[in-house]
This record gives sequence, structure tokens and C-alpha cells, in this order.
Amino acid sequence: MGNCVFCNIVTGKEEAFRVYEDNSVVVILDKYPVSRGHLLVITRKHYESIHDASPKDVIYAFSVASALARIYRNYLNAKGVNVVTNSGSPAGQMVFHFHIHVIPRWHEGGFSWGHRYILDDKEANEVIKDIKPYLNEIKKFLLEAGFSWR
Ligand SMILES: [Zn+2]
Repeated sequence: MGNCVFCNIVTGKEEAFRVYEDNSVVVILDKYPVSRGHLLVITRKHYESIHDASPKDVIYAFSVASALARIYRNYLNAKGVNVVTNSGSPAGQMVFHFHIHVIPRWHEGGFSWGHRYILDDKEANEVIKDIKPYLNEIKKFLLEAGFSWR
């Protein structure tokens, strides 16, 4: 797994804008966002995709993704959110380490995978500042889902 970019981000060998982390997942900002605030929920453990990830880690990661989707809609005024994972290159998977996209949609007609741009530091820091006050919602969601928060 030495060449896996997400493993390197998890271990800190490679830099990323980290939004949240616990013992099971790391959440970062996508370097090539589809929309402002595009997040990736990455399992600490290396799996190729949803097809070989442990059920527990899949459910845990989707719980974190769901909590983030709620934060965007309930607190940060997103009009919609996509929560999606791509499994296999025909599905558009580009990094072969299981991850879930959380893509807030800020306006009607904003749905597209096509228009990705390069994240800049200013936007990244603003997004992190926006989400930070609500990160406790993740813990609440996980506890309600029956996970012991680690
Ligand atoms: Zn990996």
C-alpha cells in the first residue's frame, strides 16, 4: 500500500486539509472539488472499495458521511447533498482506497461531476472554519447509530 495516496494521507506522510478524524476514519477536503465543501470520508484501513471493505467500516464511514450531510443541510444552508461512493473504474473510482464523497449542493442546477476545480488554501480554510462548530454532530450521530465513539 506504499503508493496509496489515501494511506499516505491517513498516516500523515502526505498533506491534506483534514476536517475530522477518529480511530476509524479521516475526513479531508477533496483536492479537486465538484462544489465548495466537497468532503471525502476515508477509512483508516486500506480497502480497495466498498466491495471488500468490512461491513462495520462501511457502515461506520457512511454514518460519518450522513452526519456531515446533515451538518451541511441543517446548519450550513446547503440546498442538497450527494453522499456517494464509486466502486471500480467504470463507476468513476480514481483512488483505489475506499472513500465516500459528501458533496454539498448550494443551488439548483448545481448537479454535475464534470466541473471539478483545484481547491485553494483560502477556500479550504474557510470551509474548515464553517464546519468546525458542528463537528460534535458526528459524535452524536454515531452514538445514536449504536457506535461507541472512538
Ligand atoms: Zn490505501
